[in-house]
Amino acid sequence: VGQENAEYLVSLIRSVPGFPKEGIIFRDFMPVLADPRGLKILLQALEEALPVPADEFDAIAGLESRGFLFGPTLASRLGKGFIAIRKAGKLPPETIGESYDLEYGTASVEIETEAVAHGERVLIVDDLIATGGTAKAGADLIEKAGGKVAGFSFVMRLDGLDGIDKLGGAPTSSLVSMP
Ligand code: AMP
Repeated sequence: VGQENAEYLVSLIRSVPGFPKEGIIFRDFMPVLADPRGLKILLQALEEALPVPADEFDAIAGLESRGFLFGPTLASRLGKGFIAIRKAGKLPPETIGESYDLEYGTASVEIETEAVAHGERVLIVDDLIATGGTAKAGADLIEKAGGKVAGFSFVMRLDGLDGIDKLGGAPTSSLVSMP
């Protein structure tokens, strides 16, 4: 997308210290989506930065909620379909789930039993990777459902957390790295 566009994209990310709690800087990319030029650059940048060529995966899976905001559009641009990895309790039966640890307690993600075709190669997308727990749970779920994880694509990656190391060496891309 070029340096000027990349800088413009970064300038639209809003940082909110102390949200949702003390010590966290919340990185909000909603202003990127709200901005016509920003949205265009975002999609182009994600497409240019794909961690594997588009002919090496069959579908894109997005993590709820913010992976839903650009995942389907990116999928459509690449001629793929979109799989929604949802937070637990939102889907009617039959579902398969995967639990993962949070700082306090656990969380779960779910998909419909039929959501992934056997051997389907899936690129997983989300807005941000921090500890990597969410993305790892999404990947485990895709594999449990019979798919293969082709890679991960993030808009942002938080420095100093070894999130990407949790992803088992799968090809990964992120557009912006932030403290
Ligand atoms: P993690 O499982 O620790 O990698 O956290 C990733 C998930 O939490 C993603 O779905 C993010 O949207 C969200 N998240 C974690 N940390 C932040 C942050 N500092 N700002 C915005 N979203 C965050």
